[in-house]
Amino acid sequence: LLGKDGGLGITIFEEVTALAQKHAAINLGQGFPDEDGPREILDAARSAIADGANQYAPGQGLPVLRDAIAAHQERFYGLAVDPGTEVIVSTGATESIAAAILAFAGPGDEVLTFEPFYDSYGAVIGLSGATHTTAPLLAPDFQPDSASLAAAFTDRTRIVVVNNPHNPTGSVFRREALETIVRLAERHGTIIVTDEVYEHLHFGAEHVPIATLPGAASRTLTISSAGKTFSVTGWKVGWLSGPAELVAQVRTVKTFLTYTSGTPFQSAVALGLGLPDEFFDSAAATLRRKRDLLGEGLRAAGFEVFEPEGTFFTMVDASPLGIDDATALARRLPSLIGVAAIPVAMFCHEDGAARTRSLLRFAFCKRFDVIEEGARRLATLR
Ligand code: PMP
Ligand code: GLN
Repeated sequence: LLGKDGGLGITIFEEVTALAQKHAAINLGQGFPDEDGPREILDAARSAIADGANQYAPGQGLPVLRDAIAAHQERFYGLAVDPGTEVIVSTGATESIAAAILAFAGPGDEVLTFEPFYDSYGAVIGLSGATHTTAPLLAPDFQPDSASLAAAFTDRTRIVVVNNPHNPTGSVFRREALETIVRLAERHGTIIVTDEVYEHLHFGAEHVPIATLPGAASRTLTISSAGKTFSVTGWKVGWLSGPAELVAQVRTVKTFLTYTSGTPFQSAVALGLGLPDEFFDSAAATLRRKRDLLGEGLRAAGFEVFEPEGTFFTMVDASPLGIDDATALARRLPSLIGVAAIPVAMFCHEDGAARTRSLLRFAFCKRFDVIEEGARRLATLR
């Protein structure tokens, strides 16, 4: 698995997707929807290509998209963002995450993430030469814990990476927990990099962007992406916003990573960000029903289910089935019953991997009939 592939850098998501394809399994592993996003924005990308938007966009992103990102931050969160100096468009959220970490962290610094953590954080912190430190998110609610955060922050903590709503635990961080992070970041002179790609995908719990908290805006870079919100993960349009001085440094790194990102998709995403509230509400409501359907199937199959409050993912414990090694199970599951899932230990360092050894992550961003068939197959596990 990851890191044991002779340096090819194949991610756990790709590996599980390849296994799923090999065994014609229902792929509840990699988090991508199996239905495309709204027709208007698909048509807008087609029209942009037909109308000649096929050469380099400005490195910072098309003005129409930067304006739409600023308007979105104001409309949903009351955050004032200057589209001229405080926004950049990137190749997915992944590039914004990489550029932000590479811009500010290097050898001798620490970058703090929660654990489990999204795989690209660990890889990029490694590339930067900084030390990766972690604070655990623990069952049953997977909220940041003040005591372990206070212990994890040091005066060398250059960046704290927040991911809210959180992949893979599905937790949506409470305001008080976010306030603790801001207080510690202020005390230690730490930049907050927050990955909010699931900002619109939560089920009841309120999403509080950390940048809206007192004291946070001047030290926070907020990252999001079109992939999840508009079900277009293959478009790879992401963005970052924050104070102009910080954004300028990230932009320098972005310039030499990719310079600029896919032109025709940018105006289409701009249109998406301006869709009426009903679009965002109904996307979350549909996803919530999918969460419930998968949850029912997983419980019936005998797993302990941690009900997610957001994201595309449900985490389960396989222990009640007498299975304590979820990584071994994930390797066998596609051939055994024709279902693919991701072991949570892959989002962890060694200690965390031991703590999460029996946990698996299932994606529910799939068609209802696909989830139903997945549940039928999972029921044969007992
Ligand atoms: N952050 C998190 C937490 C994710 O789950 C993902 C995967 N969708 C990304 C970042 C990557 O986003 P993008 O595809 O826009 O690069
Ligand atoms: N973010 C998606 C997930 O967590 C997959 C992205 C990827 O394949 N790198 O499953």
